[in-house]
Amino acid sequence: IEDGGVVSESDKNLRSPICCVMGHVDSGKTKLLDFIRGTNVQKGEAGGITQQIGATYFPAGKLREMTKGLKADARLEVPGLLVIDTPGHQSFTNLRSRGSNLCDIAILVVDIMHGVKDRTIESLDLLRRNGADFIVALNKVDRLYGWKTCGNAPIVEAMKVQSRDVRDEFERRVSGIIGQFEKQGLSTELYYKNYDVREVTSLVPTSAMTGEGIPDLLLLLVQRTQRTMVEKLTFSNQVRCTVLEVKVVEGHGTAIDVVLANGVLREGDQIVVCGQQGAIVTTIRALLTPYPMREIRVKGAYQQHKEIRAAQCIKIAAHGLEHAIPGTCLYAMGPDDNLEALKNSVMEEMESVSGHIDKAGEGVYVQASTLGSLEAFLEYLKSKEVNVKVSGVGIGPLHKKDVMKVSAMLEKKRTIKYASILAFDVKVTPEAEEYAEKSGVKIFTSDVIYQLYQQFKAYVDSLIKEEKKEEAVFPCVLTILRDFRRRNPIILGVKVHEGILKVGTPLFIPSRNFIDIGRIATIEDNGKQVQSAKKGEEVAIKIVGTNPEEQQKVFGRHFAIHDELVSHITPTSIDALNHQQHTLSEDERKLAVGPDGPDPPAQGSCMFYKLMVASILQDKKLKIPKK
Ligand code: GDP
Repeated sequence: IEDGGVVSESDKNLRSPICCVMGHVDSGKTKLLDFIRGTNVQKGEAGGITQQIGATYFPAGKLREMTKGLKADARLEVPGLLVIDTPGHQSFTNLRSRGSNLCDIAILVVDIMHGVKDRTIESLDLLRRNGADFIVALNKVDRLYGWKTCGNAPIVEAMKVQSRDVRDEFERRVSGIIGQFEKQGLSTELYYKNYDVREVTSLVPTSAMTGEGIPDLLLLLVQRTQRTMVEKLTFSNQVRCTVLEVKVVEGHGTAIDVVLANGVLREGDQIVVCGQQGAIVTTIRALLTPYPMREIRVKGAYQQHKEIRAAQCIKIAAHGLEHAIPGTCLYAMGPDDNLEALKNSVMEEMESVSGHIDKAGEGVYVQASTLGSLEAFLEYLKSKEVNVKVSGVGIGPLHKKDVMKVSAMLEKKRTIKYASILAFDVKVTPEAEEYAEKSGVKIFTSDVIYQLYQQFKAYVDSLIKEEKKEEAVFPCVLTILRDFRRRNPIILGVKVHEGILKVGTPLFIPSRNFIDIGRIATIEDNGKQVQSAKKGEEVAIKIVGTNPEEQQKVFGRHFAIHDELVSHITPTSIDALNHQQHTLSEDERKLAVGPDGPDPPAQGSCMFYKLMVASILQDKKLKIPKK
């Protein structure tokens, strides 16, 4: 077949290199792919953000045509170029096969007007961690003020026709970006000035809008891969293949989209795939590809093939693929292979995930689109700064049955925050959503790891706040009888003058400008620890500081024997008390909120009213009216 590319111009027998695109949001990744493809995918997608994985294959002939303006030695030894259309690095982590990168090279896109941003750095780190080769596209050169459009011109040609000012601004921005990369420990240089391609990463100025520099980018990708990766690109008979997506295809049943990075697949081959219920062994019924220069996702008729040589993005139709797990390897049975061994190999990949699951079964439920994205997300959740426990995981769209699992756990454990599902880059079925709503399970969705975590964190924080709110402070007034210990912690003998004294109550002293002296840690009645004391009782109390950062107040210096100690009531503690009204005795209720109920207590009807107002004013840092 033409696009399978047996039509190489050399005898090296190379396969096509695989390239992916990464970079900061809005740097122009989609637009760039779009431009070179000559279609307009971006317009068709929600918010212009690429969320699916697709690929475009550029046969050698097309590449030659696109780069002819460069008049370079464009001798193509590879049969073509396969570009994966990805929304950034989560897809890169999906594109792994048997422990190594599926992509041979990446384009790291940087907006020349904005330079290196946080997601650029994240992408850079990921690429370097994986030892991946890459080229930087300095995109949006047409946005330089006064830029003259030159169509698909090579960048050096395009620069020649620009005014002095444009060229100056260009130089300034490029050197700024070189400096920013330097800070990240990466040496970079404009590709046409780069004489040390081993140590220095090439920058290619491009415009995805008007096309300048695009020929340069394509040529550089091909040249770089065919020069430096001959071994990796040499065609081999061992199949290297990764499942990207599982989808139903009209007329073919459930099919899987795969990237075939090396080897040959044939109709009728026996294949082994990792499945949710164990290894899937099946036979290839149809091998389908989109037509060249189109994206694999574009609907329409597929070409059907007897065999396909790498590198290609293809659909495989076969029985029993419904539960195949995206992001895992596909193995083809060769004459010398042992089926049981292959079955074990495909399932091994899932083991890396089980290590992340909490032994006691506590934690959130995580759903992700592929094995790779699941792993990446689990790694993130495990990191020291985040540290979120995980009780279960799933791959693929979120269904009602997954939510049911989580809600069952909620009933057992009653840890509200763990009745949460973090759905990373997956669809949630309406039935799942409905069930979650009914059962009180929270579903968080995002296709950005960090944002997903932030949503969950905000929820957990609100729960904590909620809990704090529940801390009711009971009104009480104490008179000091004697001191046992003056500081750290303070221990006093007191008499409950009014109200009810409880462990945990914060105390302050109205007569001393409302200074807080701490919280009641313990109450002792005749040497016996008690939880509370009633009006008229005499007990010993231990007071500890509320704020560990602050030095605790000292008896005898900050306050003295004749000062009354009063529980520190705040608007929220009053709310809490109101919530708990049913648990208060009639006397306590009156004391707390006045005989007329909480809202608003008639002035003077409650001895605490004045104190309460005063303490609230104090909390708001308002002036307190003198008695
Ligand atoms: P992505 O988030 O990295 O995929 O960015 P997009 O491809 O969606 O581009 C973000 C915005 O920048 C869109 O409005 C594009 O039209 C615009 N854009 C992308 N590349 C260029 C370019 O080279 N020049 C100009 N002027 N605009 C561009």
